[in-house]
Amino acid sequence: MKLIFLGPPGAGKGTLAAKAVEILHIPHISTGVVFRSAIAAKSPLGIKVKAIIDAGKLVDDETTIALVKERLAQDDVKTGYILDGFPRTIPQAEALADFSEADKVVNFDIPDSSVLERLGGRRVCRKCGHNFHVIFDSPKKEGLCDYCGGEVYVREDDKSGSIQKRLEVYRAQTAPLIDFYRNKGILVDVDARPAVDVVVENFKKAVGKG
Ligand code: AMP
Repeated sequence: MKLIFLGPPGAGKGTLAAKAVEILHIPHISTGVVFRSAIAAKSPLGIKVKAIIDAGKLVDDETTIALVKERLAQDDVKTGYILDGFPRTIPQAEALADFSEADKVVNFDIPDSSVLERLGGRRVCRKCGHNFHVIFDSPKKEGLCDYCGGEVYVREDDKSGSIQKRLEVYRAQTAPLIDFYRNKGILVDVDARPAVDVVVENFKKAVGKG
């Protein structure tokens, strides 16, 4: 099954994708994770995108499309994938349709007030990328990842000015994808506000695995 996860930052796409991988046994491709790994490795890509990402803006379409096109050419995604954080603009969606057609687009719906609460408390493992939350899901040992022992930190773009910017960017550039995919008849809505387990059950029903 070829899936796209759509929704504002903080909707829980990354958390849900980790659960969906266990259910569907398909690779999870997150452009945000790819960019953050490149930044950590100080690769040419990382150096190019760091300031853009820290400010909460979008990396240019050409760079992002090339990266996803290359990833989707690999053998492990022939039968399915979860694209998380891509596409984020109409040109990205149009480009994707030229090299891969998704079966379903899952739209994780959540109001801005919940996004602000979630992202303000989000902590991320620098090593494995697992997401925690200071109130709802804190690491057992402060500052250390429960799964790999890596350092747990606050993403630069989860600081308040960047969160606002990312929400603005989402509304202006990414939200139009909801109608784009609804018109294609492949969009399913999932309420992202309840607890993770409830969202997982609703997700399973939405993709016919419930
Ligand atoms: P995410 O982890 O999905 O929240 O992505 C973090 C940041 O990476 C975004 O705020 C953008 O700066 C950048 N990014 C991730 N995916 C894309 C994309 N499809 N197009 C442009 N920029 C992206």
